[in-house]
Amino acid sequence: MKKLIVANWKMNPQTLKEARELFNGVSKYAKKIRNSKIVVCPPFVYLGFFSKNQILFLGAQDVFWENPPAGGGSYTGEISAKMLKNLGVKYVIVGHSECRQLGETDEIINKKIKQALKNKIKVIFCVGELKRDEGGEYLQFVKDEIIKGLDRIPAKLFKNLVITYEPVWAISSSAKSDKAQFNADTPENAREMAIYAKRVLVSVFGRIARNVPVLYGGSVDAKNAASFLNKEGIGGLLVGRTSWNAKTFGELLKNIS
Ligand code: PEP
Repeated sequence: MKKLIVANWKMNPQTLKEARELFNGVSKYAKKIRNSKIVVCPPFVYLGFFSKNQILFLGAQDVFWENPPAGGGSYTGEISAKMLKNLGVKYVIVGHSECRQLGETDEIINKKIKQALKNKIKVIFCVGELKRDEGGEYLQFVKDEIIKGLDRIPAKLFKNLVITYEPVWAISSSAKSDKAQFNADTPENAREMAIYAKRVLVSVFGRIARNVPVLYGGSVDAKNAASFLNKEGIGGLLVGRTSWNAKTFGELLKNIS
């Protein structure tokens, strides 16, 4: 099974020209990759410019939780799953810790996941603890996030679901200084958490959930990417900062191919 490599551009770059350069640069590297599917998630404003690409899969970084009612959608600033679908978007990130920190609750995340899945957009659902305590409370924390996020979602829709385990402390934006930028989890821990997430899924939703891939995210770079992917049970990577530059992301892709 191909690994899934997801580039989360977050709020970058600042101009369409730079976005085009980055997208085209990544396409060139991705052309040579056979063992992975590469998903690029630019900010909403650039999505329409990249609809036609044959090499990269297009992803969005968010989606609104309501479909517009017949009379029109009075939700200022929001983007519906239908709009994304019509632009050729195949994936959407939901539950990212940076959105949770801005007030996104498990309930909102649950509605967003439902909306995306109903519209046949694949969901990259992010979960992960804020800190890792020795008593193991973080395990319950991650379990709760999974269960609440997927509450009452028919398991038959799980074929379009991907879970990403992203310990918040390992994400580069959590670093206290630029020097401490890369603070990834160990591949061994990430593997254990991928197995754990899958166990939670199967115990709550049944065997139908056993094929949901679990990715790892948090300070992945060209040097450490392969060590995560080599672990059985890790189905791919969610990459933030390293994906904002075609060369650094290209090196990562080369190293995992
Ligand atoms: C992320 O925020 O999804 C992420 C993985 O970021 P980074 O790779 O920069 O840690």
